[in-house]
Amino acid sequence: MDSKVYYMDAHSDSTETALAAKMLTVFETSELEDLIKPNDVVAIKVHCGEWNNSAYLRPVYARTLADRIKELGGRPFVCDTTTLPYSPWASRATELDLLLTAERNGYTSAVLGCPFICADGYIGTGDHRVDIPEGYILKEAYVAQAIAAADAMITLTHFKGHGVGVIGGAIKNLGIGAQSKRGKFNVHMGGHPKYGFPAAATFYPERFKGKANTPGWEIFEDCCPFNLWKVYDDRIEWDRDKCTGCSGCPGIMAGAGLIDIGQANFDAVDAAIADACLATMKAVGPEKVGFINMAIDISPKCDCVNHAGVPIVPHLGVFASKDPVAIDMACVDAARNSPGIPGSMAEDMDAHHVGDAKFEGSAAMFHGQSEVATINTGHVIGLGNRNYELVDVKPGEPERFRFPPDSRPSRIRFQEKFAMIPPFPYERHDGRGFLREEEVDLEFIKKHYEGSTNGHEEAENLSEAVMPGDDD
Ligand code: SF4
Repeated sequence: MDSKVYYMDAHSDSTETALAAKMLTVFETSELEDLIKPNDVVAIKVHCGEWNNSAYLRPVYARTLADRIKELGGRPFVCDTTTLPYSPWASRATELDLLLTAERNGYTSAVLGCPFICADGYIGTGDHRVDIPEGYILKEAYVAQAIAAADAMITLTHFKGHGVGVIGGAIKNLGIGAQSKRGKFNVHMGGHPKYGFPAAATFYPERFKGKANTPGWEIFEDCCPFNLWKVYDDRIEWDRDKCTGCSGCPGIMAGAGLIDIGQANFDAVDAAIADACLATMKAVGPEKVGFINMAIDISPKCDCVNHAGVPIVPHLGVFASKDPVAIDMACVDAARNSPGIPGSMAEDMDAHHVGDAKFEGSAAMFHGQSEVATINTGHVIGLGNRNYELVDVKPGEPERFRFPPDSRPSRIRFQEKFAMIPPFPYERHDGRGFLREEEVDLEFIKKHYEGSTNGHEEAENLSEAVMPGDDD
């Protein structure tokens, strides 16, 4: 039987069609609310965004969800996990750095109305090992401890692209994002004899031109937290047998032409992400995990990069399901059926037409990567079903989404207060309150001026124009 994916489009022009309201509506209609029982400790798993990323999910969605979970009697916390270094300049690799970055991005207890926590401890070794004999490539996974210990979980995902995973969806939010640091080494194939980063990469030590001819060579050593690169006056060495695949060096070394990153590593990681997602669901309990995908601000790269490109497709909408495979498949299909956005990576890569595989074209690091590899793996291992029924959800009643602290209309709330502290000066200017022109030419300021092709010229023309009241 097909899995149900509940869906609302991204159009928003009223109280009940606000995206936060739509998120609550699909949360309720999809019966994810029923996962929450009184006193359940409920993890809301988000991606809090990298330092200076600006496409990550605004905290208002997690706050809205946390408030609703509290109304249902649950005890929510919002969480993310420590990362591998991923570059020489990590900003979320320890609990301290994660919390600092999350706070800068707005993920704080004060904003969320519930705790924001690092789910895998200070370094990222706080985890729970899970056997996954059904895994496609992984046979065990290390799930972040606070997530494994939760009674229920709502996986609140910003759906977007990803350089390694090709898509950054619900499966990846758990398959990477709910793994401890130890678990991330596992998923990234650290130490794997065939698919590990060093096994898949090609090293070109002969291309090193010597210290004297390599300004900034120090970063070749400083990028590795395991001290596996050694630079000598005339040569460079890599202790690749000990490489953990932490991703600290690939960008630097590939940029310097000293290595080629191997696609096999990425393809294997894409499969492993589904395995680790399954482990996470086993840890929490498959019947206690729900998924909401906010397919908005669909940047080509993940929220784990320190920038955000032009979205590759317009907002696609709000999706909810109990099936992580089905919900990601529905989002991929929606992106494929959408036109790409002019000026985005999708257009740059000629992957902007309706029907194009948008993420393979504009997010993947390698041409041969697949935007459905993780989804297909999830289907094969029983994580979920890539065949889905899309259930179109109608907006709820507007009353439900009005300002919850006080939903009374204005007269009842403000008449007495405004009488006591008048914000409008009726006593001035014959009751009109303020000093203003009786009448002006409002059509004049609406004109586009001839010859204007951009905002600068338009502004200049307007400043040079003869304004009402000017002398000739
Ligand atoms: S050599 Fe391996 S462990 Fe060291 S930075 Fe590179 S990927 Fe990480």
